[in-house]
Amino acid sequence: MESIHRYLKYLAISVSAIAGLLIIGSVITLTSSKAPVIKAPTKTIDSQAFLDEKEAEAWAQLKKLNIDKATVVQKAQGLRKKITKRHIDKSIATSTRTLVDTVLTQSGIDPETIALYHREKSYSAAAAGNSCLYITQDIFNGLTQQAKKFVIGHEAQHIINSDTLVLQVVEEFTDHLKLNPTSPDCPINYLSRFFEFRADIRAASLGAEFAQGYVERAHGWLKNNADFGTCHPKHAERLAWAQKISGSVNQSPVGVA
Ligand SMILES: [Zn+2]
Repeated sequence: MESIHRYLKYLAISVSAIAGLLIIGSVITLTSSKAPVIKAPTKTIDSQAFLDEKEAEAWAQLKKLNIDKATVVQKAQGLRKKITKRHIDKSIATSTRTLVDTVLTQSGIDPETIALYHREKSYSAAAAGNSCLYITQDIFNGLTQQAKKFVIGHEAQHIINSDTLVLQVVEEFTDHLKLNPTSPDCPINYLSRFFEFRADIRAASLGAEFAQGYVERAHGWLKNNADFGTCHPKHAERLAWAQKISGSVNQSPVGVA
């Protein structure tokens, strides 16, 4: 008798425990259904479609001069220096080197394959070369941490895509044509402007800090009326992209297209 009683008591406890869990469960479900949902970007930013269009436009211009993308890219890749022992100029600050290495790694480049040089006079904070990066330390030092990250991320994209070498090969192929390098309609400038947009957009897409850095740099170029020539996109266009990407990165944790 006592064992049945004990059994019933145990059953009652178990039933109330299960009921309790069910109540807690539904409370959790109700609470979580009320939790704020992170909104996805309202506008789809199709930066890839924009880049595809710019790239097609540039190579179509070069095709008119009998210059073919596959031939150029293959030749450019063959010119790429293989770094066996990395050179770093002594005047490069340790903090700069650390940041460069971090961003190169984030961009998918092994830092040991990229030499680092200091550049005395320049209009820009950094530049990409053949398996190397140039830093103009005094301009670089004046930037915020976000802007520094964006600048290195941008140059990393030029390295990944061999942009400097591709332009070098195109210039060799067009040398005899005596093109006007300052004209916005010069086919080489179409390609160069596409390279700049690609480097900007891909670097800014690395994360919120990079996107914010892009906004800051573009604001600065516009404010100072920086003259990058016709081989670079207009500052206002770059600022518009910077704001689009920055807005998207801040709204959505998954990044941008
Ligand atoms: Zn660039």
